[in-house]
Amino acid sequence: MVKNVVIVGGGTSGWMTAAYLRAAFGDRIAVTLVESKNIATIGVGEATFSTIRHFFDYLGLDEREWMPECHATYKLGIRFENWRAPGHHFYHPFERLRVVDGFPLTDWWLGTRPGGDFDRDCFVISWLCEAKRSPRYLSGELFEQDFTENPDERAYRTTLTEQNTQFPYAYHFDAALLASYLTRFGTERGVRHVLDDVVDVRLDERGWIDHVLTKEHGELAGDLFIDCTGFRGMLLNKALSVPFVSYQESLPNDRAVALRVPADMAARGLRPCTTATAMDAGWIWTIPLYGRVGTGYVYAGDYCTPEEAERTLREFVGPEADDLEANHIRMRIGRSERSWVNNCVAVGLSSGFVEPLESTGLFFIQNAIEQLVKHFPADRWDDRLRESYNRQVANVMDGVREFLALHYHAAARSDNDYWKDAATRPVPDGLAERLELWQARLPDSETVFPHYHGFESYSYIAMLLGLGGVPVQAPPALRHFDHGRAERELRLVREQAEALVANLPSQYEYIAALNGDTLPGRRPELSRTR
Ligand code: FAD
Repeated sequence: MVKNVVIVGGGTSGWMTAAYLRAAFGDRIAVTLVESKNIATIGVGEATFSTIRHFFDYLGLDEREWMPECHATYKLGIRFENWRAPGHHFYHPFERLRVVDGFPLTDWWLGTRPGGDFDRDCFVISWLCEAKRSPRYLSGELFEQDFTENPDERAYRTTLTEQNTQFPYAYHFDAALLASYLTRFGTERGVRHVLDDVVDVRLDERGWIDHVLTKEHGELAGDLFIDCTGFRGMLLNKALSVPFVSYQESLPNDRAVALRVPADMAARGLRPCTTATAMDAGWIWTIPLYGRVGTGYVYAGDYCTPEEAERTLREFVGPEADDLEANHIRMRIGRSERSWVNNCVAVGLSSGFVEPLESTGLFFIQNAIEQLVKHFPADRWDDRLRESYNRQVANVMDGVREFLALHYHAAARSDNDYWKDAATRPVPDGLAERLELWQARLPDSETVFPHYHGFESYSYIAMLLGLGGVPVQAPPALRHFDHGRAERELRLVREQAEALVANLPSQYEYIAALNGDTLPGRRPELSRTR
């Protein structure tokens, strides 16, 4: 029944959707993507969440091919700076907690290491981020997919892949270059690309979209319309009048200012993580790419003007920011009440968005597309499929909202009104109760947000231990256990981490080699065979 899909919008969401639909359905459906020459894309969205690897795998894209084209680097987690106190930092790594005698290692850590660094004591990835290491060996194959005879590679896989990682890593990349890469990928696989402005959305007598009207190409008719028009929500929110549910009450940051800063990454090094530095009215992201840094201040307009925010960001970056043009953005925080109505599905910012503190924008897009394919109305329109899709998409966004609200509520910082208000602002339904519980017993899979939203209990634990504003304690039962095995495991984390730091190349070395740039004194070899 659905043979023609029309996507309006050519940002990351539009091209990710077009590429994925072609990969999923091939010639069985025709895909047209129309994007405006005059309306710019949002121009940010460069750090990802670890599930993104499935997206590239699904398209059959080899990272050794696309990463250099998109100036991409690896991301193993997030470094939070100054959220507890000035000068303090901790990592939220993409690494599951080891379990000893049924208790996660952090329970044992709480009982035995007060005053230590939980992230270095319990997670190997924190060490790799601190030492700016690559998650791959120069001569090694893709560690998750191919098992090589390289003993170092095997040690790393055993350490991180088989035991502990949810997904071993994500990426940073240049959003504009990725959109161009996916444009080529999509058009080479038959996506019809129309450069034009959509000036009207015409509905039929049932209130379904019949066609969109463009300035120069006339009418574009289709069976299914995907709204990828960004915060405008031109099809879903405007033409179909679907209301928007704001999250502003629990997440007040509604503005951002961003800079693209060319930088000498050889001198600076490539830390394999995004950094989120707490500021007076929000936080600044630092995303290291190959050849430049993406940075931006996410802040609440109620506490800071755009001029102050830009000044703060420029001071944070230093002289490298002089003469660079700043991109000021108003953010619509929340989600459309329903993302799929009649024959229109919103994907990307038009569907929903939360501030990028855990880099979930592209994760929302990926989730939406995967769900769309699972719920695709191939031979009939079915309300049950539509409702199931809407429920899943809403649950994922509501879950991430809750996780982000926890970041502010649990931050120990309270040095100005913004941070004092952050600790007392109402949290989403049910979180207050669970925060009470987590003071007696750290989160587990039973007590985190009840629906899938990408974050497992280890993420909640890392944030509670790192942010430091909510007191937590070891389970009293541990007093009756022998601590010998837990002590051995804690020692093992340190030994494995030290071995990896000693043997892995720096991320800069690895990425330079991946880009074909020779480094002085080294001739790194990267195998390109599978
Ligand atoms: P846009 O990029 O806004 O694209 C909209 C498209 O619609 C454009 O092509 C435009 O030309 C087209 N369009 C609009 N109106 C019309 C019309 N009338 N006719 C034709 N075409 C039209 N996500 C992450 O995963 N990680 C991050 O680190 C991250 N950081 C972010 C930081 C900030 C400050 C913000 C605001 C977002 C961030 N995001 C992040 C989210 C991420 O940027 C977006 O999810 C992603 O870029 C997708 O945007 P989009 O394609 O939905 O919208």
